[in-house]
Amino acid sequence: MIKTKSEDLFKKALNLLPGGVDSPVRSFRSVEGTPLFISSGKGSRIKDEDGNDYIDYCMSWGPLIFGHGDTQIIEAVRETALSGTSFGAPHKFEVALAELVISMVPSIEKIRFVNSGTEAVMSAIRLARGFSGKDKIVKLDGCYHGHADFLLVAGGSGLASFGIPDSAGVTDGNARDTLIVPYNDIASLETVFEKNKGTIAALILEPVPCNYGLILPVENYLSKVRELCDRYSVLLIFDEVITGFRLGKGGAQEYYNVMPDITTLGKIIGGGLPVGAYGGRKDIMSKVAPEGPVYQAGTLSGNPLAMAAGIAAMKKLSDKNFYKELSDKGKFFSSKLISIINKYSNKVQFRSIESIFCLYFTENRNLTTVDDVKKCNMKLFAKFHSAMLNKGIYLSPSGYEVGFLSSSHSEDDIIKTISAIEESLKEIIT
Ligand SMILES: *Cc1c(COP(=O)(O)O)cnc(C)c1O
Repeated sequence: MIKTKSEDLFKKALNLLPGGVDSPVRSFRSVEGTPLFISSGKGSRIKDEDGNDYIDYCMSWGPLIFGHGDTQIIEAVRETALSGTSFGAPHKFEVALAELVISMVPSIEKIRFVNSGTEAVMSAIRLARGFSGKDKIVKLDGCYHGHADFLLVAGGSGLASFGIPDSAGVTDGNARDTLIVPYNDIASLETVFEKNKGTIAALILEPVPCNYGLILPVENYLSKVRELCDRYSVLLIFDEVITGFRLGKGGAQEYYNVMPDITTLGKIIGGGLPVGAYGGRKDIMSKVAPEGPVYQAGTLSGNPLAMAAGIAAMKKLSDKNFYKELSDKGKFFSSKLISIINKYSNKVQFRSIESIFCLYFTENRNLTTVDDVKKCNMKLFAKFHSAMLNKGIYLSPSGYEVGFLSSSHSEDDIIKTISAIEESLKEIIT
């Protein structure tokens, strides 16, 4: 496979952009080779600058639930652009998208649009603090919530530890108000709530963590989390930037029937354009400026282009067969794959939920925690990634990332992918 154009562009980019990229994980540092520069995408396929074709399972890290270049979304954006791209004044599309999202996500009564998932999460945390008058937040180890300072915090050694900065430039002060607890561990959460009684504004979590591989909640975990939050008067924030509109039209909250107080959204909500949002109960959202004292603003927030893409996406998702068909696709993929994985089950495991999947290179068949995922063999993943790329399958370039099926992946795509997985495993596992 010739990659000279991508390699040349990357060489140039390295002198101009830190690491040659605008987001670190794109840089292929945790896999083999150099990043591919993508020139176009249509449906399930992407093409790189050298003209190589791939079936894509990164899907821009989740937003592209219909695949690349969806005709209706492109048409909506094109048509809207002709009337102007941004006014910094109210626009009817903000109202239309708000109406759609509120009708789809059960716990959201009022919503504010922003430009990214990171922005949604940092605003939601500010809101939780402003509403409750408390400072501390609890974050679960292994959940990713974007790059706001107080969330770039890792757990120290030992359970229920205070956070320590996970990035240069994050102050101890920022980390100090963030408490870290392992996911799927109700006892530790209760200990932390008890020890810090009356000082915790909110607990934030990905209801289904998708940024440290895919970790599924153990039975009743989320409803027990809800109960604890109620008992200790801690606001519950579901970061549904990935799970929102992915597990179903109402996200993880509808899927598991557990309602958060505040929800953050991103990725799919923008139909491939930069949109994030946070929303929740009316009494909480009414604290947001100008209705309330919690300041948050954005020059390009809710711009008509992004809203038009979001509206087109939400309308497609509202088709009554959409999630059933996507779910069936996920089942088809899983059932084909599982029989192959079983042959290598002392080396590789597989998890999936609806249209999200993840392969782990480990002999541990009972992955439930971040520590389990940390022990996976990432060198073997790197080899696997490269073998798959050579067979025309583009996976996210990190073993900590999940894969996404879109409605544009055909049965034929899936069959091709499964046989590429089988061949790649054969090559790398001796
Ligand atoms: C991607 C992601 C974010 C950050 O969103 P950006 O748009 O990249 O800023 C936040 N939370 C979760 C769960 C995510 O997956």
